Amino acid sequence: MRIAIVGAGLAGLTTAYELRQAQSGHDVHVDVFEASDRIGGKLFTVPFNDGPVDLGAEAFLARREDALEFFADLGLEQSLVEPSGKSSLVYSADTLDNLPRGGVMGIPSSSAPITHLISADTAARIDAEKDAEAIDWTPGEDRSIGKLVRERYGDEVVDRVVSSLLGGVYSCLADDLGIRATVPQLAEALDGLAEAGEKVTLSGAVSKIEQSRPAPTDGPSKPVFNAFSGGYAELYETLAEKSEADIHLDTFVSGISFDTKTQQYTITGQGIPGDTEPYDRVVVATPAPTTARLLAKVAPEAAEALRPVKLASSAVVGLKFDSDEGLPDASGVLIAADQPGVHAKAFTFSSKKWPHIKDRIGQGALIRVSFGRFGDDSLAREEEDTLVDYALDDLLTITGFDARAAGVSEIYTQRWFGGLPRFDEHHLATVATVREKITAQPGLEVTGAWAGGVGVPAVIADARAAANRILSS
Ligand SMILES: Cc1cc2nc3c(=O)[nH]c(=O)nc-3n(C[C@H](O)[C@H](O)[C@H](O)COP(=O)(O)OP(=O)(O)OC[C@H]3O[C@@H](n4cnc5c(N)ncnc54)[C@H](O)[C@@H]3O)c2cc1C
Repeated sequence: MRIAIVGAGLAGLTTAYELRQAQSGHDVHVDVFEASDRIGGKLFTVPFNDGPVDLGAEAFLARREDALEFFADLGLEQSLVEPSGKSSLVYSADTLDNLPRGGVMGIPSSSAPITHLISADTAARIDAEKDAEAIDWTPGEDRSIGKLVRERYGDEVVDRVVSSLLGGVYSCLADDLGIRATVPQLAEALDGLAEAGEKVTLSGAVSKIEQSRPAPTDGPSKPVFNAFSGGYAELYETLAEKSEADIHLDTFVSGISFDTKTQQYTITGQGIPGDTEPYDRVVVATPAPTTARLLAKVAPEAAEALRPVKLASSAVVGLKFDSDEGLPDASGVLIAADQPGVHAKAFTFSSKKWPHIKDRIGQGALIRVSFGRFGDDSLAREEEDTLVDYALDDLLTITGFDARAAGVSEIYTQRWFGGLPRFDEHHLATVATVREKITAQPGLEVTGAWAGGVGVPAVIADARAAANRILSS
């Protein structure tokens, strides 16, 4: 059986590896076509002099046992590292403070955790929300998380807290994201109140989530996130090697067609040898707009459904400083969207957050500065010098760390045009429609961050499922 995979990002490489693992009884040949000159997609590890550092994804949710098992199967268990546990900060209303505790994604059940970030009027409004008219909520529905929080708690909570937290994951403001699509436990809590015939309020739903959390136990708790000591290159290089697939770089796929007589697929594009034989199966593992274009001939209804999914662009600048004197003793800073004169959206103090990086660089500091949100590509397009100036200015304004005086010794800049799919309130319905329409086309599968979730464990799980479906189709 000949299988083509389009895209050598995490989804495509995981699919290739899973096909190799699950192929028992099949003689499978896998070709992976990748448009760029490297594998990994949004996983990208760069070689700072003191060791590898990620400029795309840098961590993963370690509560996902399926991901931990997958990494162990790949032989990467020993490469996993834990963070220092230093707290994260938020910069909002010109003030640098600890991230609010409790609540869900910065949405509190009362004003108490965020009073330092909001006005007295907003605090009073949050505390009175339980007495306001009930939310008209239909179980199973989705709607904009920013819109709901604005309606119930007011603009400050969205602009100063919720968008900073969600923006750190999705590169979008809260207004552009769906509740169920991004914070499913909140949607489920709202469902629960509505189904039980209780009054549906935001504070009620958040306190329901808080009450359901296990009480903290004595002793050290397991960290929420892990990373790879050698960066994500360890993962994407291992997947590529163990998949035993033929990976074709600099190969831009522009079309997929299906011969109804032979039931086989032909892949066309730049860099694909003309004598390439047809394929029995195809897995498209590219970002949503590309996937929509590639499905146009073979699954036009799925393509049409997928077309509205938009992407958010961003840029990450990695900076090595000779000294970390004056840098806050924290993992990083999330920056509120409404801070005038500030360009960055987040700092990751990698040498504070990750002990393995600190051990390598000694007295120095390694900082990642992230820019850009959905709907505005301008920062992702800025010259590197300008981005570095913004980064150094913002570090001084927000943290007091005089990055210029600390001495910049290395800089890496990575732009992520179309970095992350926007998970808006229509997204889950869109994915369900695409999946349903795809099943009508034999031997065709789609996977990727847009399909099963943007986090690394979610992308892996979706790709593995796609590989297993395609083998049994
Ligand atoms: C800046 C940033 C930080 C992140 N941080 C984290 C994090 O800390 N933790 C976490 O869990 N997740 C994080 N993520 C999310 C995670 O990295 C992504 O969701 C995941 O890597 C996406 O993998 P993918 O394979 O679906 O897509 P991609 O990585 O986009 O891979 C798609 C591949 O397809 C190729 N391609 C596109 N078009 C074509 C074509 N026509 N022909 C051939 N090939 C094509 C592309 O070149 C690319 O290599 C982050 C993402 C970004 C952008």
